[in-house]
Amino acid sequence: MTNIYCVGRNYALHAKELQNDIPTAPFLFLKPTHALVCGDDREIVLPGGKGDLHYEAELVIHIGKEYEKGMTVDEVVDQMTIGIDFTLRDVQTECKKQGKPWLQAKGFKNSALVGSFIPFPGEEECKKTFFSLEKNDQTVQNGCIKNMIFTLQEIIDFTGLHYGIGRGDLIFTGTPEGVGAVQNGDTLRLFWGDQELGSSHVRVKGK
Ligand code: ZN
Repeated sequence: MTNIYCVGRNYALHAKELQNDIPTAPFLFLKPTHALVCGDDREIVLPGGKGDLHYEAELVIHIGKEYEKGMTVDEVVDQMTIGIDFTLRDVQTECKKQGKPWLQAKGFKNSALVGSFIPFPGEEECKKTFFSLEKNDQTVQNGCIKNMIFTLQEIIDFTGLHYGIGRGDLIFTGTPEGVGAVQNGDTLRLFWGDQELGSSHVRVKGK
């Protein structure tokens, strides 16, 4: 079972940069499993001709155990990585205006990039490490889950209670500020502290 949950607006400075209100409860959306792609230095094809295509670097948690009420995040999550929630920003803006779901803006193929998974060290340990995204050897995003509006525990509790969480599910936990555009030919690298967890080469194709 793999559900790909994503948390929206989980960092105040990111909510602000897109002129969104800060949520009072976790705000989630889904990506199809076909969106999933490994950041193992391969070339990935992303949709062109649809306006701005943005990266959103995020901590991604992997569920090792079916959630039951009262469980701690350290019991439920077994692995983690850094990933990218690729977003067609102009399409998303149009969806928001028209009250449409975000599938076309967030659910296209290869829109859920994940690096190599590493053992989850626990929520408290994660708060001590910054993750970052490099685009063509320049750091474009740098974040830490200590700055999240909703903690991993709150995300797990909310998601488990309302939608269910089972083994194999992934949760993209939201992006810090600094989102921006990717172009054809860009190389992206994902870091957990100094450790590189993944990379990919972007090929923008189609109209
Ligand atoms: Zn995101």
